[in-house]
Amino acid sequence: MTSSSPQYTLTKHKPQRTCIACRRLADKRELVRLVRTAGGSVEVDVGGKKSGRGAYLCRSWSCWQAGLKGDRLARVLRTTITADNRQQLMSRGEELVLGVGCAKSE
Ligand SMILES: [Zn+2]
Repeated sequence: MTSSSPQYTLTKHKPQRTCIACRRLADKRELVRLVRTAGGSVEVDVGGKKSGRGAYLCRSWSCWQAGLKGDRLARVLRTTITADNRQQLMSRGEELVLGVGCAKSE
């Protein structure tokens, strides 16, 4: 078996991921995973267990806006995001980020 993952060690370290919008490194569980489906569209993977190429965003609305704006997410996931798909992700993000998560009163 050949593995190219650098310095893979079995530690109890929490997995960390980078938010594609602000580049903050955070505990995987603090971030929301977006996954590219087999069909090439992108969906929110709440459980973080779906297979496929993934990208992460903070539970922060500004990161969702920045991350979904332009082609950043499409580039990271190496796919094309349609306007409908983007809209879908935006409303999912709204639910996840503004609905639950942090109780901001703005
Ligand atoms: Zn972020």
